[in-house]
Amino acid sequence: MNLLNINIKSSLKYHVMFSFGGIMHISFLLLFFYSEVYLLALINIVSVIIYVVGAFCSKRANFDKHCYGWIIALYTEITVHAVSCTVFLGYDEGFFMYSMMALPVAAYTLFLSCREKFGVTIVVMAITTAVTMFCSIFFVNRCGSVLEIFMNRDIPQRSTEIMRSVNIFFNTGLIFSFSMLFVMEIHTLFRKLSETNDRLAFTATHDALTGLYNRHSLRKFFDELENGSDLFCVIMGDIDDFKKINDTYGHDCGDIVLKTVADIVMKNMGEKDIACRWGGEEFLIIMRGSRDECFDRISLVKAQINALDISHESSSVHVTMTFGFADSDENLQSGHSARESIDSLISMVDKRLYKGKTSGKNVIVV
Ligand code: GH3
Ligand code: MG
Ligand code: MG
Repeated sequence: MNLLNINIKSSLKYHVMFSFGGIMHISFLLLFFYSEVYLLALINIVSVIIYVVGAFCSKRANFDKHCYGWIIALYTEITVHAVSCTVFLGYDEGFFMYSMMALPVAAYTLFLSCREKFGVTIVVMAITTAVTMFCSIFFVNRCGSVLEIFMNRDIPQRSTEIMRSVNIFFNTGLIFSFSMLFVMEIHTLFRKLSETNDRLAFTATHDALTGLYNRHSLRKFFDELENGSDLFCVIMGDIDDFKKINDTYGHDCGDIVLKTVADIVMKNMGEKDIACRWGGEEFLIIMRGSRDECFDRISLVKAQINALDISHESSSVHVTMTFGFADSDENLQSGHSARESIDSLISMVDKRLYKGKTSGKNVIVV
């Protein structure tokens, strides 16, 4: 299983983010009680409530609509929390790191849910983060922490070390998780783009009804054949009296006949053969192999089409097809250069097809 291919629903991502934020703040709450910094513990109770409500709301169906508000609320909470902790305790505990971390989190969630507001919002957030962090660290540097100024005390060295370790651990986890989420998102977009490209390429080169190649896609195969030395045969097939089938049984039945005939042609194609819907009910086939081999194979196709018994609204529709056939050697014998060879073979089989049509149909003219 490729980790990058996992597609996680956005509501689940938000739920996990809120839950994880809640767990982090409960850890801070315990740390602040342990260090007897009760004002910060109080701020954390508010934060925990925000995260619990967020986790609850993210489960709702219409959560996506209110995402922008939640992202702003989260960014504000993280910034206020980072500023309060830094100003209150100093920067040794490393709470300012969360303010920096808020930017990739905000960038990811904005990209996920509100791309239209992404640019302005993320720039305002980046400026806010830079200014608030600069000011709080500048303040602590110049005047000391609030704890030192107003309460004339500092928290124990041991508490500082525990908080710093916890903060480094959480921030590393956050950076890692959001980097992975970004990569997964980009990977998913690349995959979707490549699938769309494949689908578009198929649509551009294939006929929608029959699934055979269309006429415009053949040039590259022709170039290949003209430059190669393989023996091949060109065959043009045309369904007999197809207009009558349409007129008698309806256009939908005509479509079914076209599709069924195309399926038979396709089933009889080798790996390097090409079958194309040349026009309305005309098919161009290029088979690799000697004249005799190809003739046997196209005879089999013709026999299978003759044997068709397509039932349509209690009637049964019989189909026959006329073919014009030529092999690549014939072309060289008639003195054509490689470049014009396929085009001249096509006009040759077209004439033979016409000959078949005027001499009773349901034949292969060689
Ligand atoms: P022939 O034996 O001489 O080939 O006669 P024909 O009736 O098969 O040939 P004609 O050229 O007179 O008529 C071809 C018909 O094929 C006319 C056109 O409406 C129909 N046709 C072309 N494309 C489609 C299609 O995609 N679906 C359907 N149902 N009919 C189509
Ligand atoms: Mg026809
Ligand atoms: Mg025709």
